[in-house]
Amino acid sequence: MYDLIIVGGGPSGSAAGRIAGNMGLETLLIEKETFPRYKTCGGAFSEHAMSYLDFTIPKSIHERDIFGARVHFGDRVIEKHKEHRIATLVTRSVLDNYLLEKAKETGIEVKIGEKVIDYKENHNYVEVYTNTGVHKAEFVIVAEGSQGKLKNRIRRRDKRSEYGICMVTEIKEENEKIDRYIHNAIDIHLGVSKMGYGWIFPHKNYYSVGIGGLAKDLPFPKKTMINFLRGNGFNNKYKLKAHLIPVGGIKRNTVSSRVVLCGDAAGFVDPFYGEGIAYAIRSGQIAAEIISDILLNKKELSSLKKYESICEREFADNLKYSLMLSRMMHRFPGIFFKIFTSNEEILDKYLDVPALKMTYKSYIKWLIPRVPKCLLFGS
Ligand SMILES: Cc1cc2nc3c(=O)[nH]c(=O)nc-3n(C[C@H](O)[C@H](O)[C@H](O)COP(=O)(O)OP(=O)(O)OC[C@H]3O[C@@H](n4cnc5c(N)ncnc54)[C@H](O)[C@@H]3O)c2cc1C
Repeated sequence: MYDLIIVGGGPSGSAAGRIAGNMGLETLLIEKETFPRYKTCGGAFSEHAMSYLDFTIPKSIHERDIFGARVHFGDRVIEKHKEHRIATLVTRSVLDNYLLEKAKETGIEVKIGEKVIDYKENHNYVEVYTNTGVHKAEFVIVAEGSQGKLKNRIRRRDKRSEYGICMVTEIKEENEKIDRYIHNAIDIHLGVSKMGYGWIFPHKNYYSVGIGGLAKDLPFPKKTMINFLRGNGFNNKYKLKAHLIPVGGIKRNTVSSRVVLCGDAAGFVDPFYGEGIAYAIRSGQIAAEIISDILLNKKELSSLKKYESICEREFADNLKYSLMLSRMMHRFPGIFFKIFTSNEEILDKYLDVPALKMTYKSYIKWLIPRVPKCLLFGS
């Protein structure tokens, strides 16, 4: 019998594992893939995400520090750089492997290549069924990412308006050519799809190129992706990978009596920008902190509910306001995107959000007086 079983070894599961291990909980983390494993992602690891770690990421993992953004809409282009770093670009297989190693060093047990099929909550414990056997624990954290099915034992399935579809590919290129294309900034293309965008992120010796948008408004993601690639001069055949991404800021159940959902499984992704690693890390940590508190200080089982209120207090507001901003933008995309790509100050201020220097709420408060009223409330 374990104190805690964690399903998934992504950023959320590893962050939970590191806290649980440090608190001395008998913990088992189960990961279905063999690490390092590929993860569909743009690989922007923000200052916000890094701020939650109690260790620094080795320099070798930072492929390129990002200080700014170039934003396109039609033939408009605007570029803005900050003095401080906003994010660093990483290859997810490398980052996630490192985060898992940092969880392992606290002494937790990790089973790689074992898939959790289902679980059953009993009065005093949870049974976790995998492709190779059964494990038992007092608590379970489900950090299975956005494509697993276990989460739907706690929360209903998302509608097509509540999750996005992304297509991604990695395109090899010499660093010198990448530097000439863009320097220490990310390349964002608005208007590629509704509630989404296209991106070209300059990694080390490759570009991450992708598109994403609301599932209900992106009926032909592959076609949209191919058009985006061709439109940006990528004319070869590429291996395209599709992945789902939840729209954050929507109220979802994330706790039952002994099981907690974290990261993408809980739906914690910034709906405006698609950032999820920061919320995955922090929600995993919060879940493990609460479970440790219950077990070590003999607290009531009902204290697990505190998970929702702490997430709410720490970051739900940010996700809610990010959703508000996305909806505002996509109500009048043409005009909003033009404003975004013609007023340097609007982009400059926005870059403070992933850099953790401004919340979405304060950004919207700052933005509203600068936007014509008819755009916000209709004419
Ligand atoms: C195309 C795309 C681009 C993105 N770009 C960015 C970006 O640039 N920056 C950013 O911050 N965020 C980005 N995100 C979001 C980010 O990838 C996620 O928010 C983040 O990975 C969530 O972490 P997680 O630990 O919750 O889930 P994951 O990283 O998905 O990890 C879940 C883990 O659980 C394992 N697993 C799943 N089911 C089981 C099971 N049944 N049994 C055992 N193991 C299981 C999986 O193998 C996986 O290793 C992007 C997402 C997509 C789709």
